[in-house]
Amino acid sequence: MTAAEAIAASVRPSIFGPPAIDCDVHIAVPSISAIIPYLDAYWQAQFKMRGIERLSLGLTSAPPNAPISGRPDWRPAKGAPGTDLALLKSEAINAFRSSIAIANCIWGGMVLPSDDMAAAVCRAQNDWIAKEWLDREPRLRASIIVPLGNAGLAVEEIERRAGDNRFVQVLMLIGGQDLPGKRGFWPIYEAAERHGLAIGFHAGSSYHHPPMAGYGSTFTEDYVAQAFAFETGLVSLVSEGVFAKYPQLKVVFSESGVAWLPPSLWRFDKTWRGVRAETPWVKLPPSEIVKNHVRLTLQPLDAPDEAGRLERIVDHLGSDRVILFSSDFPHWNYEGTDALPLVPSSALARRILFDNAIETYPRIAADLLQDPQHPPGRQ
Ligand code: ZN
Repeated sequence: MTAAEAIAASVRPSIFGPPAIDCDVHIAVPSISAIIPYLDAYWQAQFKMRGIERLSLGLTSAPPNAPISGRPDWRPAKGAPGTDLALLKSEAINAFRSSIAIANCIWGGMVLPSDDMAAAVCRAQNDWIAKEWLDREPRLRASIIVPLGNAGLAVEEIERRAGDNRFVQVLMLIGGQDLPGKRGFWPIYEAAERHGLAIGFHAGSSYHHPPMAGYGSTFTEDYVAQAFAFETGLVSLVSEGVFAKYPQLKVVFSESGVAWLPPSLWRFDKTWRGVRAETPWVKLPPSEIVKNHVRLTLQPLDAPDEAGRLERIVDHLGSDRVILFSSDFPHWNYEGTDALPLVPSSALARRILFDNAIETYPRIAADLLQDPQHPPGRQ
């Protein structure tokens, strides 16, 4: 029996049968005014003087009011999808009976052009997440938001928040001005590995990057191009040697889809064999490194709606350890609670629902080991 299976034995079942950890739900900042009380006095005054308090720092690859951005039954009576804790509890955590749900709060603070302002907003946003969400729902966990333009300030924020075990990963966006394997980001990976935090790359960008071969014009182009950004990001992380340098690091791709991975890895392995002298630190076929270090959340699933699709993807991958269950609340990917295209009693379902997350998030494993029914989430 693996450690994950031992923990699962005492955790209450989800609606699918095995216990579940929901590795991607979304919470949203309703407006800047929610964050302002969490800024320090200097930045509160700056926001007022500069008129920033009247702006929106929303970040999205989809039109904000398009159906895809929020399922009709998952939209609050007022305000944007993801702003209502009661709805998150009833429709995501209770509806699936997940033991834990990991909240990603994507907002503009992480990509502001001023490093100092970005750091101030991320600090305030993390404190807001802790107070307004984590303090009020014990099954909720979250990602630490960091200023992506300055690794030193990002590490400062990780150090400031790492003592709170309810933060289980560091959130980054897959589209940036630099590819994620570049050395400038490595201090972030070092801090994450040292603190037992995963790095979560979510779909999204600063819009200061060429996501394709150039700049597009529409939400549609940006949304579709997120998949290419994940593919180039993956190749960058492996080729630059991030996993050779940080052998304990786990990276989670959220909303990347999963069907693209097997053919991409096939091409990566094939090319690497021919030119591997260029990257002596890549000592295993890239597909093996990815299977050891990289995880992909399930929803939205980028595969045709037919029986056996997920089993075939896993078969082509050659590993049942890569995919993590996610509902992607409140985005509109499926109806009801039909988030798991698998026979729920299968060994693969159990891996995807629970075991893989336990092996990815050591902080969650430690909490569930301590109290399987009411994981404490030490602060
Ligand atoms: Zn997501």
